[in-house]
Amino acid sequence: MGNECPICDKHRGIGALVGPVIYADDLVLVTHRPLTEGTPVPGYLFVETRRHAPTLSTLTDAEAQAVGWAARRAAHALHVELAPEFVFSAITGLSVAHFHQHVFARPHGTPASVPWTNADAWPDAPHLDACALGELCDRLAIHFVTEH
Ligand SMILES: [Zn+2]
Repeated sequence: MGNECPICDKHRGIGALVGPVIYADDLVLVTHRPLTEGTPVPGYLFVETRRHAPTLSTLTDAEAQAVGWAARRAAHALHVELAPEFVFSAITGLSVAHFHQHVFARPHGTPASVPWTNADAWPDAPHLDACALGELCDRLAIHFVTEH
């Protein structure tokens, strides 16, 4: 695929979606939501296939295994490092037709009125600057290379 896919571009280091890489192998990448979307709430991760596969049903068995492993590791890493109220995960694919799974923390103290899909709707939510984002990603990355 060429330049028309923003996630393929992201994997080549191009475009507004480029975020810090927490884990990468031949099949999947795990990244944190980037600063290009403002100061992100801590712990909003994306698990993406390296290959341009548009949907969950188009993954190979090997890709699906890699995605499942990475999503589980991502959720575990978020639980350990952030101790959030919840870790949510969703696969929607409405905006970009390149497989990506959202794995994200709901910060402690999030009011019940804030939708699970949108922590940004909470004005008092914690946010990360560039330094804190880098430090968090370094801590999260450790959980992908150690035994659990
Ligand atoms: Zn793509």
